[in-house]
Amino acid sequence: MSSEDNVRVVVRCRPLSTELEADQDICVDLNSDGRTIRLASREFTFDRIFGLDSTQAQVFRESAQYIVDCVVQGYNGTIFAYGQTGTGKTYTASAILLNSFDHIFDYISKSANDTKFLVRASFYEIYNEEIRDLLCKNNLKPLELKESTQCGVYVKDLSCYVVNSVSDLTKLRQLGEKQRSVAATNMNRESSRSHTIFTITVEMIIGNDSKTSSLRVGKFNLVDLAGSERQSKTGTSGDRLREAAKINLSLTSLSLVIAALTDSKATHIPYRNSKLTRILSDSLGGNSKTLLIACIGPAKMNIDESLSTLRFASNTKHIKNKAIINEDTKDALLRRFQKQIDELKHQLELEGDVDMDNNDTNDANNNNDDKNGESNGKPMIPNEILEKLKSLENKICFGGENLIEKAELQQRLIAESETELQERREKERQLQLTLELRQQEFLRIEETYGTLQEEVMALNKKLKKAFYFLKDAKSELSDTQCDYEKLHEDLLDSIRTANKEIKLTNCLINHYIPDSKLEIIHNSVAYNDLVGEWQLRCIAYTGNNMQQKSIDQSVSQSQTNLDLQNVYLTYNKY
Ligand code: ADP
Ligand code: MG
Repeated sequence: MSSEDNVRVVVRCRPLSTELEADQDICVDLNSDGRTIRLASREFTFDRIFGLDSTQAQVFRESAQYIVDCVVQGYNGTIFAYGQTGTGKTYTASAILLNSFDHIFDYISKSANDTKFLVRASFYEIYNEEIRDLLCKNNLKPLELKESTQCGVYVKDLSCYVVNSVSDLTKLRQLGEKQRSVAATNMNRESSRSHTIFTITVEMIIGNDSKTSSLRVGKFNLVDLAGSERQSKTGTSGDRLREAAKINLSLTSLSLVIAALTDSKATHIPYRNSKLTRILSDSLGGNSKTLLIACIGPAKMNIDESLSTLRFASNTKHIKNKAIINEDTKDALLRRFQKQIDELKHQLELEGDVDMDNNDTNDANNNNDDKNGESNGKPMIPNEILEKLKSLENKICFGGENLIEKAELQQRLIAESETELQERREKERQLQLTLELRQQEFLRIEETYGTLQEEVMALNKKLKKAFYFLKDAKSELSDTQCDYEKLHEDLLDSIRTANKEIKLTNCLINHYIPDSKLEIIHNSVAYNDLVGEWQLRCIAYTGNNMQQKSIDQSVSQSQTNLDLQNVYLTYNKY
């Protein structure tokens, strides 16, 4: 394997977050080769790209598992999760960690039964350039970094627990997470600004014969880095500004270390600038198999941060590590435990007759200098030796297929896949729900719109009817007006004719009837309402009726004179 293969870089792009980015466009374009990604017209190629629909199991299998495989063979292995806050670093790192636990113990159970293992774990965080133990309840005092020729850089007084099952590791992780959130709340700080490091050390002795057996130590670091987004310094001054600068220091130093490592002209690598780069000096440019998982979000709104993450990842790709198997490590705890076990066994054989020396069996659980052997100057009785032996042996895992554990492991893996599937189903269900709600809203709006339109149409119909009605009424009115006008005209005509006739009658009366007779006539005439006409009393003796009789009797007088005379005669009779 070439040295380039010691540093692998993969990218994981999480799906759109339903709550915040539901309406956002996806701006990343993943090539079907699974290695090329295009963003804002830039193209990057990595060892592997995990798309929006990648599963936790797939990410582990196709990237992290290789590192864990190396660790159980005695290599140092480091996995970094890098990226903007909210892009899935913790989500990805958590699954990798749980799968790594399973994988390590699966490997142990399948190893030859002449292989012994000692597995230890630590969990700590770096916040504001201070290191805090996450597996120690009173972790108020920040821990210091030390360096020795044998161990390299290490955290002094850091808790280190011996574990011999997956559930031990899971419990430690849960304890650390709890401590972390308590610290974040108590100190009123942002958890996304801290780096957490979970370390698993796997020591192994291959072979039973102490003269021919070989010892290997693999060290696994899982680093969940702080959010890579720029820390806002606006409006900050004094202590706050210094704090902001310190929070950024580790990430800035990480970039500088990577830049120096990939610059052929660089003469100095600034590992010592920050706690993080000091701790990880082996992982970057040193003796380690390293994997960087660059996490990005697909939304357009994060394009700048995603580009910056991809540039960082691209630079990291050029780092060259020289990974070698750590063999015959001098300070291996397993070696010391093995020595103590051998001695205790020897004592048992002598049935407690031997006065024992000060054997140091540092318990990884508390690192106490727990002195064994002589207590109160008296030899240890066989029971005590047996107990001590048992306790020591319990810390050691032995190789060999353990079918029950394997079945349990399989079941756990199935359960995890099931949980993941259920989570996905739940997300899908929620998305479906959101979609349905939107559709309902749309339909409701459409319905309202439809009802309004119907209402408008009905009103329009009514308006049209009313309009026609008005038109009819208007023309009827004008017809009636015309009729009235005609009637009016006719009436006026009738009045005019009647007036003429009255005038004629008056003229005749004025000229032919003397006023004295007229009075008589007036007194003799009355209007009959029933028949609607004037009636004269003794009509048979009126002028014209009398005149008819006279004509019959007359002989010579002119007609006019006669007429007048008759009128006079007629009237004289009254
Ligand atoms: P970070 O640690 O980078 O700040 P988190 O891991 O806390 O981000 O992820 C933010 C949110 O996005 C969480 O709710 C997480 O469950 C969700 N998330 C991240 N990556 C994925 C993914 N690949 N699939 C589904 N949900 C994801
Ligand atoms: Mg996180």
